[in-house]
Amino acid sequence: MNVRFSYLDRQFADVDDYLEDLRKLVATGDFTLGAAVEEFERRFAALCRAPFAVGVGSGTDAIALTLKALGIGPGDEVITTPMTFIATVGAIAMTGARPVFVDSEDGFVIDPEGIEAAISSRTKAILPVHYTGNVADMPRIMEIAREHGLAVVEDACQSISAEIDGQPVGSWGDAACFSLHPLKNLNVWGDGGVVVTRSTELTEKLRLIRNHGLVGRDEVSIFGGNSRLDSLHAVIGNRLIDQVEWITEQRISNARKLDEALADLGESVLIPRRRQGVKHVFHLYVIRARRRDGLLEYLQEKGIEAKVHYPIPVHLQVAAEHLGYREGDFPVCERDCGTIITLPAHQHLTPEELDYMIDKVHSFHSGKSA
Ligand SMILES: *Cc1c(COP(=O)(O)O)cnc(C)c1O
Repeated sequence: MNVRFSYLDRQFADVDDYLEDLRKLVATGDFTLGAAVEEFERRFAALCRAPFAVGVGSGTDAIALTLKALGIGPGDEVITTPMTFIATVGAIAMTGARPVFVDSEDGFVIDPEGIEAAISSRTKAILPVHYTGNVADMPRIMEIAREHGLAVVEDACQSISAEIDGQPVGSWGDAACFSLHPLKNLNVWGDGGVVVTRSTELTEKLRLIRNHGLVGRDEVSIFGGNSRLDSLHAVIGNRLIDQVEWITEQRISNARKLDEALADLGESVLIPRRRQGVKHVFHLYVIRARRRDGLLEYLQEKGIEAKVHYPIPVHLQVAAEHLGYREGDFPVCERDCGTIITLPAHQHLTPEELDYMIDKVHSFHSGKSA
């Protein structure tokens, strides 16, 4: 049996409805911004229970443009965690600001206890990442941010629909940034991103920055760039956004089954603590395995596309050399990068595939390589 990580062939096995929607768009010639993008922004904001959403070219741009709109640039520092996909840190660097790292905790999100020690006179913002679909401790992070007068931008690229005590991601910080990449929980047919915010000022600024600063056809109020959410992608997004609730529920249900079935492996397989009140949406189902590399190889041999997100912590990447961090600086993140493994838990898995995967994780640990 093959258990694939990508579900795109299943998700788009029947594309007629999508193509019909695209045919209608083509008839309008409305290829940049326009009605489809406006509709998607309206519906995305409603999904996040936020007043405003601005569609941009990618999740990375969502973060970088938001930081720029907040006035963050060269000479400034932005606090985040090295336990993330590289895009978070690349986006900070794109603005000219310096990324400053704080270690992660057991659930792969920034440890709020480390934030205050990382604040300097140059710090302008905290950028927590809701990594894997978990949610950072936003109530505590907001407290720290208020005390020190810092902006908060949530990297919610992996956590659409996640919540703490019923309060969704994007409702704490100044803004939250989402990705519509083909392998994110809400996906389109290429790159896309969205910023959600309660601020009219930030919304207006982002709308300008993504579109050359154009106020009308002929007038430009600030210099911007070109990072619009493509209308083609908005059309696909408008069809898929209705499925977010189902997608989320499926992933949560698959994760729960895996949590229960793997709980008896003791020290060999550690399941991260599931915080009470947190709706974790399992963009990635990540656990720790003592014999990670062996398990990874074994599962791949058995046709299961397990992966590691990611083996090298961001602070130890060549790209981060100039920041001056060393091995040992972020022990939790470093330990995790050496032990984490991601199992497929997406919404198109069949119960048979889930059982097969559970069986193989067990057989690896019982020494039976059947
Ligand atoms: C995917 C992702 C991004 C960037 O999104 P793109 O749309 O690929 O640019 C940023 N941060 C995290 C945590 C992500 O997973």
